[in-house]
Amino acid sequence: MKVDTKCLHEGWKPKQGEPRQLPVYQSTTFKYDTSDYMGKLFDLEETGYFYTRLQNPTNDFVAEKICAMEGGVAAMLTSSGQAANFYAIFNICEAGDHFITSSSIYGGTYNLFNVTMRKMGIECTFVDQTLPEEELAKYFKPNTKAVFGETITNPTVTVFDFEKFARLAHSHGVPLIVDNTFATPINCRPFEWGADIVTHSTTKYMDGQGVTVGGCIVDSGNFDWMAHADKFPGLCTPDDSYHGITYAERFGKGAYITKATAQLMRDLGSIRAPQNAFYLNLGLETLSVRMERHCKNALKVAQYLKANDKIDWVHFADLEGDEYYDLAKKYMPNGTCGVLAFAVKGGREKSIKFMDNLNFVSIATHVADAKSCLLHPASHTHRQLTDEQLREAGIAPDLIRLSVGIEDVDDIIADIEQALAKI
Ligand SMILES: *Cc1c(COP(=O)(O)O)cnc(C)c1O
Repeated sequence: MKVDTKCLHEGWKPKQGEPRQLPVYQSTTFKYDTSDYMGKLFDLEETGYFYTRLQNPTNDFVAEKICAMEGGVAAMLTSSGQAANFYAIFNICEAGDHFITSSSIYGGTYNLFNVTMRKMGIECTFVDQTLPEEELAKYFKPNTKAVFGETITNPTVTVFDFEKFARLAHSHGVPLIVDNTFATPINCRPFEWGADIVTHSTTKYMDGQGVTVGGCIVDSGNFDWMAHADKFPGLCTPDDSYHGITYAERFGKGAYITKATAQLMRDLGSIRAPQNAFYLNLGLETLSVRMERHCKNALKVAQYLKANDKIDWVHFADLEGDEYYDLAKKYMPNGTCGVLAFAVKGGREKSIKFMDNLNFVSIATHVADAKSCLLHPASHTHRQLTDEQLREAGIAPDLIRLSVGIEDVDDIIADIEQALAKI
């Protein structure tokens, strides 16, 4: 099946007489006939559900769909994109470890890595992702355990060079973890370019209607943990909290997701409510048609803005002449996403006046859903960053992030035009 078909037919596959739509298993617990079988579940000797803090069938059917769309071997849903990125790193890093991340990442992820994970004793180095390979190689240390980046960065819409970072990560014996939120597996499948683990904030395009917060982690199964057993003791040595199971031996390609479920979900409990997984599934069914429209509309809006003399600059990788155009064409030939960044001439005051005069294009702390919306990161999402940190993350103080929806593009442009006329 092509990815567009997988959106509809992967995950829940009803048998004769079963509901055609994914059922919601609204249950905390699951029944078993014998104490012996239940014991085996707790020893991870049998697979099965026992408590929704760890796993729930509705969640797993949706995770299975996303896994198939990405071309992975195992996946799990989390309660948010933040939880997904935290688990993805924490599953293989502990106090005293280090990882490398592109500095061009979502503000929430930046804080998670720079503040909260540092308090846990996990260090990271933020790197300029445009540096040449030999410069980037200098940041690896003996305790480096992973490399992290975003396919298309939120909010600067730059494009990640997968092949460069996959070579760097693999030559240093560590996995490449990529947040594929903005591109979605419709436009980019990072595993095809060497990424080992993919994360998502499903809150964005995958949900698409702005109704549920959620995240997902997908494992390609390609990284050979045992070949680097000294670096990954959590996967390659016995886990005392599971009677001495060694995940990489017992679960092979499923080791990483099994450990994240059995250890992190068990202990930290950022599980998705099954009802929210059901909503996500509805969104996934239409993802491919929505992405096509988002990309088409965004390109037209970008071209309109580029040609407008009230606009200072526009960043959109599908726009010819953009700094990231070549990388976008290489990794996402069908389009990147519907998000673009631009600045209004005249600084902050004019930008705010422009935003306040829009009609249906609304100011919202959201991005990547069906309805057009925009925000000004320096005064909204990223206001906790200093100017220096903003610059380090490549975010200009005048940057406006516009998430182009699936309305008629003429209406979107008309709304922008009337608001620009008022400044
Ligand atoms: C929104 C976002 C996140 C965080 O996801 P939540 O679902 O809001 O927790 C992570 N990465 C990217 C790229 C995002 O856009």
